[in-house]
Order: sequence, then C-alpha cells, then structure tokens
Amino acid sequence: MRSEFLVFGKPRIEEEDIAEVVATLRSGWIGMGPRTIQFERDFAAYTGAKHAIAVNSCTAALHLGLIAAGVGPGDEVITTPLTFAATANVIEHVGARPVFADIDRRTQNLDPARVAEKITPRTKMIVPVHMLGRAADMDPLLALAAAHNLKIMEDAAHAVETVYRGRHAGTIGHFAAFSFYANKNVTTGEGGMLTTDDDDAAEHIRRLRLHGISKDAWKRYSAEGFTPYELVEPGYKYNMLDLTAALGLGQLRRVEENWRIRERLVMLYNEGLSEVPGLTIPALEPLAPGDRHAWHLYTIALDLEGMTIGRAAFIDALQARNIGSGIHYTALHMQGYYREHYGYKRGDLPNAEWVSDRTVSLPLSPAMTEQDVEDVIAAVTDIATIHRR
Ligand SMILES: *Cc1c(COP(=O)(O)O)cnc(C)c1O
Repeated sequence: MRSEFLVFGKPRIEEEDIAEVVATLRSGWIGMGPRTIQFERDFAAYTGAKHAIAVNSCTAALHLGLIAAGVGPGDEVITTPLTFAATANVIEHVGARPVFADIDRRTQNLDPARVAEKITPRTKMIVPVHMLGRAADMDPLLALAAAHNLKIMEDAAHAVETVYRGRHAGTIGHFAAFSFYANKNVTTGEGGMLTTDDDDAAEHIRRLRLHGISKDAWKRYSAEGFTPYELVEPGYKYNMLDLTAALGLGQLRRVEENWRIRERLVMLYNEGLSEVPGLTIPALEPLAPGDRHAWHLYTIALDLEGMTIGRAAFIDALQARNIGSGIHYTALHMQGYYREHYGYKRGDLPNAEWVSDRTVSLPLSPAMTEQDVEDVIAAVTDIATIHRR
C-alpha cells in the first residue's frame, strides 16, 4: 500500500509559474492589468475564439453568458443533470428555469433527442457540458438552436483541449465558459474565461465583469492617463487578477504537454483495469474523426449488482488505501433544491441516474507519476476482487 496519500486533482505547478507570480507581486500591479490581457490573448489564440474575456470563475462566465444572451425571468434553459451545481445555479440566478434533459450513457453527454423533447416556446438557450473532456454532440444541438432561434453556451469547464469535428471547444456555440479552478486542466487557483465570436456581446460582457462601468476604466490610473468612467449598468465584480493570470500564463504554455501526460496515464489506467471484475472503464476511441478528448477526468462505473459493497464503501476503501477519489456527479435533478423545487423524482432521467449512482473518478493529473497510477490500479483491483459477489 502507498505510504503517502494521493491527492485527487493535484495541480502541476512549475518554477516558471512561481517566478511569474513573484514577478507580478514585485511589479506593483497585482489587480487586473497587463498579465490578464496577455492571458486573454494567449487563450484566444489557443482556442481560436475571437474574444476571450477573463473572469474570476467559470461560474461567473456562465452567469455573464446568460445575461449577454438576454436570458431572464420566465425563460427556460435546457441543460444536463450530470454536471456541477454551478451550471444550473446560474440559470436560477437570472430568474430562469433550468430544464434537465437526459444524457447518453456511454458519452455521459446530453442526448440531442432528449433535448428536442424539452423545447418549449419559453426555451432560450441550451447549455451542454463537454463532460469529462469529451465534446458534447454539438451538430444536432446547433441544428436545434437554429430551428428554434436558441443560443448555445458550452460549459467547457473540463474542455480546454477538447475538439469536436475539428472545431475547438469555445468556438462552437455562441458562448463558452472555461474554468481555471484548482483541479482543472489549466489552473489559476480560481478563475474562468468566457469566449465568443460576437463583438457586441463581448463588449457587454467586458463591461458587466467590472461593475458595468465603461470599457477600460480599470486602466484609469495607468500611464495612459486619467479618464473618467461612465457607469452604464449595475454590473458585477467578476474580473480576473494579474496575480492569478500570472499562474495561467505558464499553465497555458504547457497545456499540450500536460494533455499528453494525462492521455498516457489514461491509457495505463485502461490497460490495468480492463480485466478487473465489477467495473466498466471509459471508451477510449474518439466518437468521430476530428474529435479530441481533453481527459479532464477518468471515471469508472461500478457494477453494483456484481459487488457486495456500495459506492460509498468503495470510496472509503480507496481512502483507506491512501487514494483520493471523487464523484462526477450526483445528478442535479436528484439534489435537494432541484428535486424539491421542480418535483423531479427517480426514474425521470434514467441514464443520468445510472451514471450518477455508479460513477467514481480516479486521480488524474499531470503531477502524477506512472507509479501513482499503478498504485491506484492495484487498490481498485484489490477492492473489486475482495468484494466480488
Ligand atoms: C468546475 C466546474 C464549473 C465551475 O467552475 P468554477 O471555476 O469553480 O466556477 C462549472 N461547470 C463544470 C462542469 C465544472 O466542472
């Protein structure tokens, strides 16, 4: 057994990241400024998006995307139940109603046929998540959006490196929201990015992220001289800091290198776990030519019927063997608020429930070694074998 606890989602921080943060501290400008602008430019160049607007979380990016699309009280937004709370919470924040559509069990992404059934005259937007890093099936969703005059916002929190039919995540829908939270593929500790090709929406979002004051007002004490600002609308305090953008600059330079490390670790996992009884491992092959999986998370599905223990006990057993793990996710329609507020019950979205009940995420990060993966494989094999029914 491992002597040291294996943290789930440990970030890979290099000396150049530390040096850049220290240089920011010494520069005398730690708030939003030149490093944030550089990070936005680098991110736009990497994804191919026309505009990249840095904010302090993906949640903030999702919130601003809804507002920029004009989603408000009385509107409906169709999204997946198999996601983090933030995806649906922001829909509540603008006074709209999240409508959950079921997923495809194999890809864990929204099933476009189920989305089509949920469209009503009140539907304004569809928010697919590129779940685990695999692109959602965007073409049918884009066709639905075109037919019903809807906007699409990609929840690309797992998907910095994701490509769908040759198109990079962040350039497919009208808006896309990325996360730079501590365990995401590119991290700034906390942070997010909103991408769009819409010039007017981009200008609106830039204003909304900093109190709703006129463009570039935050530069007003710089060498470019003082310009009084205009308060255009009551906006938000959602801007990124140079102190955190400093961390993102190097992370983004190493994004492809880190992706290759995670891909290699995923291959090792699948080789090591393919013969283990009682679990299903992820499908590795791209679903279509021109697709690329970002390998944000590596999840297995437990065969609960073939095991003498439940998932909670399985996770406890991993913990006892010094291995951290996670659940992505408990389906939102089964979570207290959404269940009670909208009257969802078990059986409403069976595929999401199937994944929600069985999924376990094993550690995956470019800070891990191949030995770490071997340790996890050994622990999972041990637990699955001992508790085989
Ligand atoms: C992490 C995550 C978010 C929220 O990201 P923050 O940057 O923490 O606000 C939203 N959606 C999904 C799918 C996520 O994984």
